[in-house]
Amino acid sequence: MIALGIEGTAWSLSVGVVNENDVIALLNDPYQPKEGGIHPREASQHHSERMAPLLSRLFDKVERDSIDVIAFSQGPGMGPCLRVVATAARLLSVKLKKPLVGVNHCLAHVEVGRWKTRAKRPVVLYVSGGNSQVIARRGNRYRVFGETLDIGIGNALDKLARYMGLKHPGGPKIEKLAENGKKYHPLPYVVKGMDFSFSGMVTAAQKLYDSGVSPEDVAYSFQETAFAILTEVTERALAYLGLNEVLLVGGVAANRRLQEMLRVMCDDRGARFYTPPKELAGDNGAMIAYTGLLMYKHGYVTPVEKSYVRPDFRIEDVEVRWD
Ligand code: AMP
Ligand code: MG
Repeated sequence: MIALGIEGTAWSLSVGVVNENDVIALLNDPYQPKEGGIHPREASQHHSERMAPLLSRLFDKVERDSIDVIAFSQGPGMGPCLRVVATAARLLSVKLKKPLVGVNHCLAHVEVGRWKTRAKRPVVLYVSGGNSQVIARRGNRYRVFGETLDIGIGNALDKLARYMGLKHPGGPKIEKLAENGKKYHPLPYVVKGMDFSFSGMVTAAQKLYDSGVSPEDVAYSFQETAFAILTEVTERALAYLGLNEVLLVGGVAANRRLQEMLRVMCDDRGARFYTPPKELAGDNGAMIAYTGLLMYKHGYVTPVEKSYVRPDFRIEDVEVRWD
């Protein structure tokens, strides 16, 4: 079976085709803000201008008639972006006469991670621009055991970077700066139960920068504090749930310091650490295609009239019918 997937919940516009075993094609055309952060209307205009050319490049690589199912990211995400994606998916479904499957974006991160690593029943740390969640399967649902009370870690890194005059996306630039950090400056460490928060930390880090602390030390202090929070909550989830695998997904999964902290924690507990290849860890069309394929095989179809977008779609809302 072959599935086509369209991702475009925020800045990333990506289309992918997969079969049960592998990614057959994956093409990206991300939106890059000229200045500042992601503007939902501008991002959606980018998606609507680039969707058709991106899909025709995809159909140069993959035979249209070979496709069995059309999957699209139905939410969560920015409403205007989601609507462009859903419209394109409906059109393809009608034109190719193939069923449509609306996919939860967070679920897709988790499932592509399980597909492309050896993780079976992991505690998932999903860290991206808009989301930061600790997720694990209980029965036939994934549950969120801890999450950010305000902004996602990626968004926090981007905000701090922008404040220090660096362009979007800021995460990789903060990572580079932090490698040359020398002195750790304490920042607010906010964990409430299993939830956590980053926005106060961003403000405090901006104040450090204003007070003349070097960008390297600000970046280093920020990463050490924020990633310690994420590692602590992930470890607690492992302990509570009696699990022994950690799966790191989302755009921030590319960060080597975060990977290292999680790996050390896992080694200490005798747990295993996994993260998929970078191109599948961040937002991508292949994860939507794969999850759509999995859902379709387990009886899911989204009728066109029910294919409305779901900006607040939660991973808990999906019944998981597979192992
Ligand atoms: P996503 O929302 O999953 O597409 O991820 C995008 C986010 O990942 C942005 O906030 C980026 O700044 C962040 N990001 C990408 N690469 C890195 C990195 N190496 N370290 C930290 N954050 C990163
Ligand atoms: Mg994402």
